[in-house]
Amino acid sequence: MSTIIKGIAASSGIAIAKSYRMQEPDLTVTKKSIADHDSEINRFTSAIATAKEELEKIKAKTNEELGEDKAAIFAAHLLVLSDPELINPVQDKIKSDSVNAEFALQEVANMFIQMFESMENEYMKERAADIRDVTKRVISHLLGVSIPDPSMITEEVIIVAEDLTPSDTAQLNRKYVKGFTTNIGGRTSHSAIMARSMEIPAIVGAKTVTTDIENGVIVIVDGLDGDVIVNPTDEQIAQYQQKKRDYDAQRAVWAKLVNEKTISSDDHHVELAANIGTPEDVEGVLKNGGEGVGLYRTEFLYMGRDQLPTEEEQYIAYKTVLEKMAGKPVVVRTLDIGGDKELPYLDLPKEMNPFLGFRAIRLCLEEQDIFRSQLRALLRASIYGNLKIMFPMIATLDEFRQAKAILFEEKDKLVSEGQSVSDQIEIGIMVEIPSTAVLADQFAKEVDFFSIGTNDLIQYTMAADRMNETVAYLYQPYHPAILRLVSMVIEAAHKEGKWAGMCGEMAGDPIAIPLLLGLGLDEFSMSATSILPARSQIKKLSKSKTESYKDKILSMSTTEEVVALVKENF
Ligand code: PEP
Ligand code: MG
Repeated sequence: MSTIIKGIAASSGIAIAKSYRMQEPDLTVTKKSIADHDSEINRFTSAIATAKEELEKIKAKTNEELGEDKAAIFAAHLLVLSDPELINPVQDKIKSDSVNAEFALQEVANMFIQMFESMENEYMKERAADIRDVTKRVISHLLGVSIPDPSMITEEVIIVAEDLTPSDTAQLNRKYVKGFTTNIGGRTSHSAIMARSMEIPAIVGAKTVTTDIENGVIVIVDGLDGDVIVNPTDEQIAQYQQKKRDYDAQRAVWAKLVNEKTISSDDHHVELAANIGTPEDVEGVLKNGGEGVGLYRTEFLYMGRDQLPTEEEQYIAYKTVLEKMAGKPVVVRTLDIGGDKELPYLDLPKEMNPFLGFRAIRLCLEEQDIFRSQLRALLRASIYGNLKIMFPMIATLDEFRQAKAILFEEKDKLVSEGQSVSDQIEIGIMVEIPSTAVLADQFAKEVDFFSIGTNDLIQYTMAADRMNETVAYLYQPYHPAILRLVSMVIEAAHKEGKWAGMCGEMAGDPIAIPLLLGLGLDEFSMSATSILPARSQIKKLSKSKTESYKDKILSMSTTEEVVALVKENF
Protein backbone atom coordinates (compact mmCIF):
# COMPACT_ATOMS: atom_id res chain seq x y z
CA MET A 1 0.00 0.00 0.00
CA SER A 2 1.42 3.33 -0.94
CA THR A 3 1.27 6.34 1.34
CA ILE A 4 1.82 10.04 0.69
CA ILE A 5 3.60 12.26 3.21
CA LYS A 6 3.28 16.03 2.80
CA GLY A 7 6.29 18.24 3.38
CA ILE A 8 7.85 21.49 2.25
CA ALA A 9 9.13 21.45 -1.35
CA ALA A 10 12.72 22.55 -0.85
CA SER A 11 14.40 21.70 -4.13
CA SER A 12 12.56 21.03 -7.37
CA GLY A 13 12.66 17.93 -9.54
CA ILE A 14 11.43 14.36 -9.18
CA ALA A 15 13.49 11.46 -7.85
CA ILE A 16 12.56 7.78 -7.61
CA ALA A 17 14.88 5.42 -5.73
CA LYS A 18 15.29 3.17 -2.70
CA SER A 19 15.24 4.82 0.72
CA TYR A 20 18.43 5.04 2.76
CA ARG A 21 17.79 5.85 6.40
CA MET A 22 20.35 8.03 8.03
CA GLN A 23 19.30 7.26 11.53
CA GLU A 24 21.70 6.48 14.30
CA PRO A 25 21.08 2.92 15.54
CA ASP A 26 20.55 2.23 19.23
CA LEU A 27 24.05 1.87 20.66
CA THR A 28 23.06 1.43 24.28
CA VAL A 29 25.59 -0.74 26.07
CA THR A 30 24.68 -3.01 28.98
CA LYS A 31 27.14 -4.46 31.44
CA LYS A 32 27.47 -8.26 31.29
CA SER A 33 29.70 -10.56 33.21
CA ILE A 34 32.04 -12.67 31.13
CA ALA A 35 33.72 -15.92 32.09
CA ASP A 36 35.80 -16.58 28.99
CA HIS A 37 38.19 -13.59 28.91
CA ASP A 38 40.17 -14.75 25.91
CA SER A 39 37.25 -15.10 23.59
CA GLU A 40 35.90 -11.70 24.74
CA ILE A 41 39.29 -10.14 23.96
CA ASN A 42 39.19 -11.83 20.54
CA ARG A 43 35.76 -10.39 19.93
CA PHE A 44 37.14 -6.94 20.82
CA THR A 45 40.20 -7.27 18.55
CA SER A 46 38.14 -8.45 15.63
CA ALA A 47 35.69 -5.49 16.06
CA ILE A 48 38.71 -3.17 16.00
CA ALA A 49 40.02 -4.86 12.85
CA THR A 50 36.65 -4.50 11.08
CA ALA A 51 36.41 -0.85 12.11
CA LYS A 52 39.92 -0.25 10.75
CA GLU A 53 39.09 -1.88 7.42
CA GLU A 54 35.97 0.25 7.18
CA LEU A 55 37.87 3.43 8.01
CA GLU A 56 40.57 2.66 5.44
CA LYS A 57 37.86 2.39 2.78
CA ILE A 58 36.14 5.59 3.87
CA LYS A 59 39.49 7.39 3.99
CA ALA A 60 40.44 6.29 0.46
CA LYS A 61 37.05 7.24 -0.92
CA THR A 62 37.02 10.63 0.80
CA ASN A 63 40.52 11.31 -0.40
CA GLU A 64 39.53 10.54 -3.96
CA GLU A 65 36.28 12.49 -3.96
CA LEU A 66 36.79 15.34 -1.52
CA GLY A 67 40.57 15.62 -1.14
CA GLU A 68 43.23 14.85 1.39
CA ASP A 69 42.10 17.59 3.64
CA LYS A 70 38.73 16.02 4.33
CA ALA A 71 40.25 12.53 4.51
CA ALA A 72 42.57 13.61 7.33
CA ILE A 73 39.84 13.15 9.92
CA PHE A 74 39.65 9.42 9.12
CA ALA A 75 43.42 9.12 9.34
CA ALA A 76 43.11 10.55 12.86
CA HIS A 77 40.43 7.96 13.66
CA LEU A 78 42.71 5.16 12.47
CA LEU A 79 45.46 6.41 14.75
CA VAL A 80 43.12 6.26 17.74
CA LEU A 81 42.31 2.63 16.90
CA SER A 82 45.99 1.70 16.89
CA ASP A 83 46.78 3.48 20.13
CA PRO A 84 47.84 1.05 22.87
CA GLU A 85 46.91 3.68 25.47
CA LEU A 86 43.27 3.06 24.55
CA ILE A 87 43.38 -0.61 23.55
CA ASN A 88 45.43 -2.06 26.45
CA PRO A 89 43.29 -0.66 29.29
CA VAL A 90 40.16 -2.10 27.60
CA GLN A 91 41.72 -5.55 27.46
CA ASP A 92 42.92 -5.23 31.07
CA LYS A 93 39.45 -4.27 32.17
CA ILE A 94 37.85 -7.25 30.41
CA LYS A 95 40.22 -9.50 32.35
CA SER A 96 40.26 -7.78 35.74
CA ASP A 97 36.53 -6.95 35.95
CA SER A 98 35.22 -9.91 33.88
CA VAL A 99 33.02 -7.55 31.86
CA ASN A 100 31.93 -7.57 28.22
CA ALA A 101 34.06 -5.76 25.63
CA GLU A 102 31.55 -3.03 24.74
CA PHE A 103 31.15 -2.09 28.39
CA ALA A 104 34.92 -2.06 29.00
CA LEU A 105 35.48 0.05 25.89
CA GLN A 106 32.79 2.53 26.81
CA GLU A 107 34.18 2.99 30.31
CA VAL A 108 37.75 3.53 29.13
CA ALA A 109 36.72 5.78 26.25
CA ASN A 110 34.53 7.95 28.52
CA MET A 111 37.44 8.45 30.85
CA PHE A 112 39.62 9.71 27.95
CA ILE A 113 36.81 11.83 26.49
CA GLN A 114 36.29 13.61 29.80
CA MET A 115 40.01 14.12 30.23
CA PHE A 116 40.49 15.65 26.76
CA GLU A 117 37.36 17.74 26.94
CA SER A 118 38.49 19.42 30.13
CA MET A 119 41.77 20.58 28.55
CA GLU A 120 42.20 24.17 27.42
CA ASN A 121 44.10 23.26 24.29
CA GLU A 122 41.88 23.23 21.13
CA TYR A 123 43.80 20.36 19.58
CA MET A 124 43.27 18.16 22.63
CA LYS A 125 39.57 18.98 22.71
CA GLU A 126 39.25 17.76 19.13
CA ARG A 127 40.78 14.43 20.17
CA ALA A 128 37.76 13.90 22.43
CA ALA A 129 35.51 14.06 19.36
CA ASP A 130 37.73 11.57 17.53
CA ILE A 131 37.58 9.08 20.41
CA ARG A 132 33.81 9.46 20.62
CA ASP A 133 33.37 8.74 16.90
CA VAL A 134 35.73 5.79 16.86
CA THR A 135 34.19 4.26 19.98
CA LYS A 136 30.75 4.45 18.40
CA ARG A 137 32.04 2.63 15.35
CA VAL A 138 33.66 -0.21 17.36
CA ILE A 139 30.63 -0.56 19.65
CA SER A 140 28.35 -0.83 16.60
CA HIS A 141 30.41 -3.82 15.44
CA LEU A 142 30.36 -5.42 18.86
CA LEU A 143 26.58 -5.00 18.97
CA GLY A 144 26.18 -6.18 15.37
CA VAL A 145 24.35 -3.04 14.15
CA SER A 146 25.47 -0.75 11.37
CA ILE A 147 26.01 2.99 11.47
CA PRO A 148 24.76 4.73 8.33
CA ASP A 149 27.57 6.13 6.27
CA PRO A 150 26.43 8.12 3.22
CA SER A 151 29.96 8.38 1.86
CA MET A 152 29.94 4.62 1.23
CA ILE A 153 26.68 4.50 -0.75
CA THR A 154 27.17 2.74 -4.07
CA GLU A 155 23.66 2.64 -5.51
CA GLU A 156 21.00 5.24 -6.24
CA VAL A 157 19.15 6.23 -3.06
CA ILE A 158 16.92 8.77 -1.42
CA ILE A 159 18.20 9.79 1.99
CA VAL A 160 15.62 9.76 4.78
CA ALA A 161 16.71 11.58 7.95
CA GLU A 162 15.47 13.48 10.97
CA ASP A 163 17.58 16.42 9.78
CA LEU A 164 20.69 16.99 7.70
CA THR A 165 23.25 19.54 8.76
CA PRO A 166 24.78 21.71 6.04
CA SER A 167 28.01 19.73 6.34
CA ASP A 168 26.15 16.39 6.02
CA THR A 169 24.57 17.81 2.88
CA ALA A 170 27.90 19.00 1.47
CA GLN A 171 29.22 15.46 1.75
CA LEU A 172 26.38 13.80 -0.15
CA ASN A 173 27.58 12.15 -3.33
CA ARG A 174 25.52 13.59 -6.18
CA LYS A 175 26.10 10.48 -8.28
CA TYR A 176 24.14 8.22 -5.94
CA VAL A 177 22.03 10.49 -3.77
CA LYS A 178 19.05 11.24 -5.99
CA GLY A 179 17.01 13.11 -3.41
CA PHE A 180 16.40 13.55 0.29
CA THR A 181 13.62 14.07 2.75
CA THR A 182 13.79 15.15 6.38
CA ASN A 183 11.41 15.44 9.31
CA ILE A 184 12.42 18.99 10.17
CA GLY A 185 13.56 22.14 8.37
CA GLY A 186 12.08 24.84 6.16
CA ARG A 187 12.65 26.16 2.62
CA THR A 188 15.39 28.46 3.86
CA SER A 189 17.27 25.97 6.09
CA HIS A 190 20.77 25.73 4.73
CA SER A 191 20.46 22.06 3.82
CA ALA A 192 17.49 23.00 1.61
CA ILE A 193 19.44 25.85 0.02
CA MET A 194 22.33 23.49 -0.67
CA ALA A 195 20.05 20.87 -2.19
CA ARG A 196 18.98 23.49 -4.71
CA SER A 197 22.52 24.37 -5.65
CA MET A 198 23.39 20.68 -5.92
CA GLU A 199 20.21 20.16 -8.01
CA ILE A 200 19.01 17.31 -5.77
CA PRO A 201 15.19 17.17 -5.32
CA ALA A 202 14.34 17.54 -1.63
CA ILE A 203 11.40 17.70 0.75
CA VAL A 204 12.01 19.03 4.24
CA GLY A 205 9.74 19.50 7.24
CA ALA A 206 7.88 16.27 6.38
CA LYS A 207 7.58 15.51 10.12
CA THR A 208 7.19 11.71 10.04
CA VAL A 209 9.47 10.39 7.31
CA THR A 210 11.79 8.60 9.71
CA THR A 211 8.92 6.78 11.34
CA ASP A 212 6.91 6.12 8.16
CA ILE A 213 9.68 5.01 5.80
CA GLU A 214 11.59 1.78 6.29
CA ASN A 215 15.08 1.27 4.96
CA GLY A 216 15.28 0.05 1.35
CA VAL A 217 11.70 0.68 0.19
CA ILE A 218 10.95 2.57 -3.01
CA VAL A 219 10.27 6.25 -2.45
CA ILE A 220 9.32 9.09 -4.79
CA VAL A 221 10.39 12.61 -3.87
CA ASP A 222 8.28 15.17 -5.71
CA GLY A 223 10.20 18.38 -5.12
CA LEU A 224 7.72 20.32 -7.25
CA ASP A 225 4.69 19.77 -5.02
CA GLY A 226 6.28 18.72 -1.74
CA ASP A 227 5.03 15.11 -1.71
CA VAL A 228 6.90 12.01 -0.60
CA ILE A 229 5.29 8.83 -1.96
CA VAL A 230 6.26 5.69 -0.06
CA ASN A 231 5.92 2.24 -1.67
CA PRO A 232 4.36 3.66 -4.86
CA THR A 233 2.21 1.45 -7.09
CA ASP A 234 3.38 0.74 -10.67
CA GLU A 235 0.79 3.22 -11.83
CA GLN A 236 2.15 5.96 -9.55
CA ILE A 237 5.71 5.26 -10.69
CA ALA A 238 4.63 5.66 -14.32
CA GLN A 239 2.74 8.84 -13.47
CA TYR A 240 5.78 10.42 -11.75
CA GLN A 241 8.12 9.29 -14.52
CA GLN A 242 5.87 11.26 -16.88
CA LYS A 243 5.88 14.26 -14.53
CA LYS A 244 9.69 14.11 -14.53
CA ARG A 245 9.78 14.03 -18.36
CA ASP A 246 7.45 17.06 -18.50
CA TYR A 247 9.63 18.94 -16.03
CA ASP A 248 12.77 18.09 -18.00
CA ALA A 249 11.06 19.30 -21.20
CA GLN A 250 10.17 22.58 -19.49
CA ARG A 251 13.78 22.97 -18.40
CA ALA A 252 14.94 22.42 -21.97
CA VAL A 253 12.75 25.37 -23.05
CA TRP A 254 14.20 27.58 -20.29
CA ALA A 255 17.71 26.51 -21.26
CA LYS A 256 17.38 28.43 -24.52
CA LEU A 257 17.60 31.67 -22.50
CA VAL A 258 21.03 30.89 -21.10
CA ASN A 259 22.94 33.54 -23.02
CA GLU A 260 20.29 36.23 -22.89
CA LYS A 261 20.12 39.29 -20.69
CA THR A 262 17.17 39.66 -18.34
CA ILE A 263 15.05 42.37 -19.89
CA SER A 264 11.38 43.03 -19.14
CA SER A 265 8.85 43.41 -21.96
CA ASP A 266 9.26 47.21 -21.67
CA ASP A 267 13.06 47.10 -21.93
CA HIS A 268 14.12 47.37 -18.31
CA HIS A 269 17.22 45.36 -17.43
CA VAL A 270 17.66 43.66 -14.06
CA GLU A 271 20.58 41.49 -13.09
CA LEU A 272 19.97 37.82 -12.30
CA ALA A 273 22.79 36.47 -10.17
CA ALA A 274 23.34 33.22 -8.29
CA ASN A 275 23.99 32.21 -4.71
CA ILE A 276 26.91 29.83 -4.28
CA GLY A 277 28.55 27.97 -1.40
CA THR A 278 31.73 26.61 -3.01
CA PRO A 279 33.95 27.37 -6.01
CA GLU A 280 32.57 24.20 -7.67
CA ASP A 281 29.11 25.78 -7.71
CA VAL A 282 30.30 28.33 -10.31
CA GLU A 283 29.85 25.68 -12.99
CA GLY A 284 26.10 25.61 -12.25
CA VAL A 285 25.97 29.43 -12.31
CA LEU A 286 27.43 29.57 -15.81
CA LYS A 287 25.37 26.63 -17.02
CA ASN A 288 22.23 28.41 -15.83
CA GLY A 289 23.12 31.78 -17.34
CA GLY A 290 23.92 33.68 -14.13
CA GLU A 291 24.96 37.29 -14.76
CA GLY A 292 27.05 37.27 -11.61
CA VAL A 293 27.37 35.79 -8.15
CA GLY A 294 25.13 37.77 -5.83
CA LEU A 295 26.06 35.83 -2.70
CA TYR A 296 29.04 33.60 -2.05
CA ARG A 297 28.39 32.00 1.34
CA THR A 298 32.02 31.61 2.40
CA GLU A 299 31.20 29.74 5.60
CA PHE A 300 31.08 26.45 3.68
CA LEU A 301 34.83 26.78 3.24
CA TYR A 302 35.09 26.58 7.03
CA MET A 303 32.80 23.56 7.43
CA GLY A 304 33.27 19.78 7.16
CA ARG A 305 36.85 20.02 8.44
CA ASP A 306 38.49 20.17 11.83
CA GLN A 307 40.36 23.46 11.74
CA LEU A 308 40.09 26.92 10.24
CA PRO A 309 41.10 27.27 6.57
CA THR A 310 44.39 29.11 6.11
CA GLU A 311 44.60 32.49 4.39
CA GLU A 312 46.22 30.74 1.42
CA GLU A 313 43.42 28.16 1.08
CA GLN A 314 40.87 30.94 1.13
CA TYR A 315 42.81 33.04 -1.33
CA ILE A 316 42.82 30.14 -3.80
CA ALA A 317 39.06 29.60 -3.39
CA TYR A 318 38.21 33.30 -3.91
CA LYS A 319 40.62 33.67 -6.82
CA THR A 320 39.13 30.58 -8.49
CA VAL A 321 35.61 31.97 -8.25
CA LEU A 322 36.64 35.41 -9.52
CA GLU A 323 38.57 33.96 -12.43
CA LYS A 324 35.84 31.54 -13.42
CA MET A 325 33.30 34.39 -13.38
CA ALA A 326 35.59 36.28 -15.78
CA GLY A 327 34.87 39.88 -14.83
CA LYS A 328 31.21 39.38 -13.91
CA PRO A 329 30.34 40.72 -10.45
CA VAL A 330 31.03 38.42 -7.49
CA VAL A 331 29.61 39.44 -4.12
CA VAL A 332 31.51 37.60 -1.40
CA ARG A 333 29.97 37.57 2.03
CA THR A 334 32.35 37.39 4.95
CA LEU A 335 32.01 34.52 7.41
CA ASP A 336 28.40 34.06 8.56
CA ILE A 337 28.75 31.24 11.03
CA GLY A 338 26.07 30.54 13.63
CA GLY A 339 22.35 29.78 13.49
CA ASP A 340 22.10 26.40 11.74
CA LYS A 341 25.71 26.63 10.51
CA GLU A 342 28.03 25.38 13.22
CA LEU A 343 31.80 25.10 13.40
CA PRO A 344 32.43 22.49 16.10
CA TYR A 345 36.17 23.19 16.17
CA LEU A 346 35.61 26.78 17.33
CA ASP A 347 34.06 25.26 20.41
CA LEU A 348 31.64 28.12 20.99
CA PRO A 349 29.34 27.90 23.99
CA LYS A 350 25.85 26.46 23.33
CA GLU A 351 23.30 29.25 23.16
CA MET A 352 19.59 29.36 23.97
CA ASN A 353 18.79 31.12 20.68
CA PRO A 354 21.61 30.56 18.20
CA PHE A 355 19.89 32.60 15.46
CA LEU A 356 19.94 35.59 17.82
CA GLY A 357 23.33 34.87 19.27
CA PHE A 358 27.04 35.35 18.88
CA ARG A 359 27.32 34.83 15.14
CA ALA A 360 28.42 36.29 11.80
CA ILE A 361 29.82 39.83 12.05
CA ARG A 362 29.40 39.79 15.84
CA LEU A 363 31.83 36.90 16.08
CA CYS A 364 34.18 38.33 13.42
CA LEU A 365 34.53 41.67 15.21
CA GLU A 366 35.42 39.80 18.39
CA GLU A 367 37.60 37.03 16.92
CA GLN A 368 39.55 39.37 14.72
CA ASP A 369 42.27 36.91 13.71
CA ILE A 370 39.68 34.84 11.88
CA PHE A 371 38.17 37.93 10.25
CA ARG A 372 41.46 39.51 9.24
CA SER A 373 42.73 36.34 7.63
CA GLN A 374 39.59 36.16 5.50
CA LEU A 375 39.79 39.83 4.53
CA ARG A 376 43.44 39.51 3.52
CA ALA A 377 42.63 36.50 1.35
CA LEU A 378 39.81 38.44 -0.30
CA LEU A 379 41.90 41.56 -0.87
CA ARG A 380 44.72 39.54 -2.41
CA ALA A 381 42.25 37.77 -4.71
CA SER A 382 40.55 41.05 -5.68
CA ILE A 383 42.78 41.68 -8.70
CA TYR A 384 41.45 38.58 -10.46
CA GLY A 385 37.94 39.81 -11.16
CA ASN A 386 35.07 42.04 -10.13
CA LEU A 387 34.96 41.56 -6.35
CA LYS A 388 32.41 43.09 -4.00
CA ILE A 389 32.63 42.42 -0.27
CA MET A 390 29.58 42.24 1.95
CA PHE A 391 29.19 41.93 5.71
CA PRO A 392 26.44 39.71 7.16
CA MET A 393 24.04 40.37 10.03
CA ILE A 394 24.76 44.07 10.36
CA ALA A 395 22.45 45.50 13.04
CA THR A 396 24.07 48.89 13.68
CA LEU A 397 26.06 51.46 11.74
CA ASP A 398 28.85 51.07 14.24
CA GLU A 399 29.30 47.40 13.31
CA PHE A 400 29.56 48.36 9.65
CA ARG A 401 32.08 51.12 10.38
CA GLN A 402 34.22 48.78 12.50
CA ALA A 403 34.19 46.05 9.86
CA LYS A 404 35.06 48.52 7.12
CA ALA A 405 37.89 50.01 9.20
CA ILE A 406 39.39 46.56 9.72
CA LEU A 407 39.13 45.88 5.99
CA PHE A 408 40.99 49.11 5.23
CA GLU A 409 43.66 48.36 7.84
CA GLU A 410 44.34 45.03 6.15
CA LYS A 411 44.32 46.67 2.74
CA ASP A 412 46.93 49.24 3.86
CA LYS A 413 49.08 46.49 5.36
CA LEU A 414 48.99 44.48 2.14
CA VAL A 415 49.83 47.51 0.03
CA SER A 416 52.76 48.39 2.29
CA GLU A 417 53.94 44.77 1.93
CA GLY A 418 54.01 45.37 -1.82
CA GLN A 419 50.92 43.27 -2.67
CA SER A 420 48.49 44.41 -5.37
CA VAL A 421 44.93 45.05 -4.28
CA SER A 422 42.12 46.28 -6.51
CA ASP A 423 40.85 49.76 -5.71
CA GLN A 424 37.47 49.12 -7.33
CA ILE A 425 36.05 46.88 -4.58
CA GLU A 426 32.52 47.85 -3.60
CA ILE A 427 31.67 47.33 0.08
CA GLY A 428 28.12 46.53 1.06
CA ILE A 429 25.99 44.89 3.69
CA MET A 430 23.30 42.29 4.01
CA VAL A 431 20.05 43.84 5.13
CA GLU A 432 18.60 40.98 7.14
CA ILE A 433 17.95 42.56 10.52
CA PRO A 434 14.89 44.83 10.81
CA SER A 435 16.83 47.64 12.56
CA THR A 436 19.01 47.99 9.48
CA ALA A 437 16.08 47.93 7.08
CA VAL A 438 14.35 50.65 9.10
CA LEU A 439 17.49 52.76 9.15
CA ALA A 440 18.43 52.05 5.53
CA ASP A 441 18.45 55.77 4.66
CA GLN A 442 21.36 56.29 7.09
CA PHE A 443 23.25 53.19 5.96
CA ALA A 444 22.81 54.15 2.30
CA LYS A 445 25.09 57.15 2.81
CA GLU A 446 27.97 54.88 3.82
CA VAL A 447 27.64 51.60 1.93
CA ASP A 448 28.13 50.96 -1.79
CA PHE A 449 25.22 48.53 -2.01
CA PHE A 450 22.59 46.58 -0.12
CA SER A 451 21.71 42.94 -0.49
CA ILE A 452 18.45 42.10 1.23
CA GLY A 453 18.64 38.79 3.06
CA THR A 454 14.99 37.90 3.33
CA ASN A 455 15.65 34.43 4.77
CA ASP A 456 16.63 36.09 8.01
CA LEU A 457 14.74 39.37 7.57
CA ILE A 458 11.45 37.45 7.50
CA GLN A 459 12.29 35.32 10.53
CA TYR A 460 13.32 38.36 12.56
CA THR A 461 10.40 40.54 11.46
CA MET A 462 7.75 37.88 12.03
CA ALA A 463 9.61 36.31 15.00
CA ALA A 464 9.26 32.90 13.33
CA ASP A 465 12.26 30.56 13.29
CA ARG A 466 13.08 29.73 9.66
CA MET A 467 13.95 26.14 10.65
CA ASN A 468 10.79 25.41 12.55
CA GLU A 469 8.06 23.81 10.46
CA THR A 470 5.41 24.33 13.15
CA VAL A 471 5.63 28.11 12.76
CA ALA A 472 6.14 27.94 8.99
CA TYR A 473 2.70 29.55 8.54
CA LEU A 474 4.16 32.81 9.87
CA TYR A 475 7.05 32.72 7.49
CA GLN A 476 5.36 35.00 4.93
CA PRO A 477 7.58 36.58 2.26
CA TYR A 478 4.68 38.46 0.66
CA HIS A 479 3.40 39.93 3.89
CA PRO A 480 2.92 43.70 3.49
CA ALA A 481 5.20 44.28 6.52
CA ILE A 482 8.04 42.56 4.67
CA LEU A 483 7.25 44.30 1.39
CA ARG A 484 7.29 47.70 3.09
CA LEU A 485 10.71 46.99 4.57
CA VAL A 486 12.02 45.80 1.20
CA SER A 487 10.61 48.90 -0.47
CA MET A 488 12.20 51.20 2.12
CA VAL A 489 15.59 49.61 1.56
CA ILE A 490 15.38 49.93 -2.25
CA GLU A 491 14.21 53.55 -2.07
CA ALA A 492 16.94 54.47 0.41
CA ALA A 493 19.61 52.95 -1.86
CA HIS A 494 18.33 54.70 -4.97
CA LYS A 495 18.13 58.04 -3.22
CA GLU A 496 21.88 57.86 -2.62
CA GLY A 497 22.62 56.51 -6.10
CA LYS A 498 23.42 53.01 -4.78
CA TRP A 499 22.08 49.67 -5.98
CA ALA A 500 19.90 47.24 -4.06
CA GLY A 501 19.86 43.50 -4.56
CA MET A 502 18.24 40.59 -2.81
CA CYS A 503 19.95 37.30 -2.05
CA GLY A 504 17.31 35.70 0.15
CA GLU A 505 15.33 32.85 -1.38
CA MET A 506 12.44 35.26 -2.03
CA ALA A 507 14.37 36.71 -5.00
CA GLY A 508 13.75 33.57 -7.06
CA ASP A 509 10.14 33.04 -6.05
CA PRO A 510 7.68 33.40 -8.97
CA ILE A 511 5.04 35.13 -6.82
CA ALA A 512 7.60 37.58 -5.41
CA ILE A 513 9.26 38.43 -8.72
CA PRO A 514 6.54 40.79 -10.08
CA LEU A 515 6.36 42.46 -6.65
CA LEU A 516 10.13 42.99 -6.48
CA LEU A 517 10.32 44.26 -10.05
CA GLY A 518 7.61 46.77 -9.19
CA LEU A 519 9.48 47.88 -6.06
CA GLY A 520 12.55 48.61 -8.22
CA LEU A 521 14.96 45.86 -7.14
CA ASP A 522 18.16 46.03 -9.25
CA GLU A 523 19.68 42.61 -8.69
CA PHE A 524 17.99 39.28 -7.94
CA SER A 525 20.30 36.61 -6.56
CA MET A 526 18.98 33.06 -6.24
CA SER A 527 19.75 29.37 -6.45
CA ALA A 528 21.33 28.84 -9.87
CA THR A 529 18.52 26.55 -10.99
CA SER A 530 15.93 29.31 -10.46
CA ILE A 531 17.67 31.75 -12.83
CA LEU A 532 16.30 30.54 -16.15
CA PRO A 533 12.67 30.22 -15.01
CA ALA A 534 12.99 33.71 -13.45
CA ARG A 535 14.42 35.11 -16.69
CA SER A 536 11.61 33.56 -18.68
CA GLN A 537 9.08 35.13 -16.29
CA ILE A 538 10.65 38.62 -16.24
CA LYS A 539 10.85 38.77 -20.03
CA LYS A 540 7.06 38.53 -20.10
CA LEU A 541 6.50 41.16 -17.38
CA SER A 542 6.14 44.89 -17.93
CA LYS A 543 8.13 46.84 -15.34
CA SER A 544 5.82 49.85 -15.60
CA LYS A 545 2.76 47.65 -15.04
CA THR A 546 4.32 46.05 -11.95
CA GLU A 547 5.23 49.53 -10.71
CA SER A 548 1.70 50.81 -11.14
CA TYR A 549 0.57 48.41 -8.38
CA LYS A 550 3.26 49.44 -5.90
CA ASP A 551 1.20 51.84 -3.75
CA LYS A 552 -1.80 49.54 -3.72
CA ILE A 553 0.30 46.58 -2.60
CA LEU A 554 2.12 48.52 0.10
CA SER A 555 -1.19 49.62 1.56
CA MET A 556 -2.60 46.09 1.77
CA SER A 557 -2.98 44.39 5.11
CA THR A 558 -2.54 40.66 4.52
CA THR A 559 -0.46 38.18 2.55
CA GLU A 560 -3.62 36.73 1.00
CA GLU A 561 -4.58 40.07 -0.56
CA VAL A 562 -1.11 40.48 -2.03
CA VAL A 563 -1.05 36.96 -3.48
CA ALA A 564 -4.53 37.40 -4.96
CA LEU A 565 -3.44 40.62 -6.67
CA VAL A 566 -0.34 38.98 -8.16
CA LYS A 567 -2.27 35.96 -9.39
CA GLU A 568 -4.95 38.12 -10.95
CA ASN A 569 -2.66 40.53 -12.74
CA PHE A 570 0.61 38.75 -13.57
C1 PEP B 1 19.44 35.57 4.17
O1 PEP B 1 19.41 35.61 5.40
O2 PEP B 1 18.49 35.91 3.44
C2 PEP B 1 20.63 35.07 3.46
C3 PEP B 1 20.71 35.15 2.15
O3 PEP B 1 21.64 34.52 4.20
P1 PEP B 1 21.58 33.05 4.84
O4 PEP B 1 20.46 32.30 4.17
O5 PEP B 1 22.89 32.42 4.58
O6 PEP B 1 21.31 33.33 6.27
MG1 MG C 1 21.16 35.41 6.63
